[in-house]
Amino acid sequence: MRAFRAVGGTPRFMVSGTGPYLTDADGREYVDLVCSWGPMILGHAHPEVTAAVQEAVARGTSFGTPGEGEVALAEEIVARIEPVEQVRLVSSGTEATMSAIRLARGFTGRAKVVKFAGCYHGHVDALLAAAGSGVATFGLPDTPGVTGAQAGDTIVLPYNDLEAVRAAFAAQPGEIACVITEASPGNMGVVPPSDGFNAGLKEICAANGALYISDEVMTGFRTSRAGWYGIDGVRPDLMTFGKVMGGGFPAAAFGGRADVMAHLAPAGPVYQAGTLSGNPVATAAGLAQLRLLDDAAYAKIDAVSAELRSLVDEAFTKEGVAHTVSAASNMFSVFFTDEPVRDYEDAKKQEAFRFTAFFHSMLEQGVYLPPSAFESWFVSTSHDERAIERIAAALPAAARAASEATA
Ligand code: PLP
Repeated sequence: MRAFRAVGGTPRFMVSGTGPYLTDADGREYVDLVCSWGPMILGHAHPEVTAAVQEAVARGTSFGTPGEGEVALAEEIVARIEPVEQVRLVSSGTEATMSAIRLARGFTGRAKVVKFAGCYHGHVDALLAAAGSGVATFGLPDTPGVTGAQAGDTIVLPYNDLEAVRAAFAAQPGEIACVITEASPGNMGVVPPSDGFNAGLKEICAANGALYISDEVMTGFRTSRAGWYGIDGVRPDLMTFGKVMGGGFPAAAFGGRADVMAHLAPAGPVYQAGTLSGNPVATAAGLAQLRLLDDAAYAKIDAVSAELRSLVDEAFTKEGVAHTVSAASNMFSVFFTDEPVRDYEDAKKQEAFRFTAFFHSMLEQGVYLPPSAFESWFVSTSHDERAIERIAAALPAAARAASEATA
């Protein structure tokens, strides 16, 4: 992704960031709409997060023992997200989903895992099948290095299709350990769950003795105080988190039902560990960031997102470019089609070549977008009127470039 393989050209090497701005190695400033792929929800180098990090670093960077920071962060997560009765800290979203799946298999004694085409859950071997964005953009359906044995128990189904899920359970009774889904997908572009989809998954899992795992690595602490759970209220058995909860440092987590978490070592038999898990600097950054994310902060992010969506929509409409601005709370992306996008197959039908022209025009004008048509755009509390005006000023020429682009 960051190598610009999807859009071509030379990737920008960033050397610093302040608020909504990034500065590259040539001294050019950009309004940032990637926010490190989600984590920087308060903008770059937020003074209170920076101070918490500096204070933590001065006390030592890793102890390999229990520490207060990890307990405080765990308590913050549990307090925000009601279905999380217990939580285990890890260092990346990949580790979180990998561990949640291992736990689901250990808990149920079953092997098979259902995932959806276009959903990305990190580079867990078993989940690198039809995995959206990075993989999608490179046109690799799978990746060399993942063996048939590793992916053989993974069942990939079309997103937003409950009938396909019912059929998979009927075809393999007693074999499916869990269904893992992005709470609201952002890795095939933003494709929200249709009404009742997550609730239907939960119901099918419960009826079949399987666990419903909601991957909130991207949506967690971003789409609301309680992430996507705060929006749809569907109670998962296990959940995974990352990105925002680390405040720009490697911190992630998985958690959920206490009776399921009780199967995790050392209390139970399912092994899981990590040298840097609960790292004191990462937990200090994450905690400082989460404590600043109050209702006013979410209202601000939602308002910035709504304003940008309407500016983007207006620019493409003016140039007659077929497009859909697809949003899930404050996450959004543009599909270059006016057909509805409900799953990965729909998403791939868009005229992605138009995004390439649009992206480079925005970049030239000092706006840093995700370098792929299959990624969510991210905003922060620091995106102020000046930053929005700069984006608004860049949009007309970029929309024109999109309209003139040829495949
Ligand atoms: N799950 C989702 C929904 C993600 O979007 C990502 C990363 O983008 C991951 C898991 C993997 O997280 P990480 O990159 O921290 O390993």
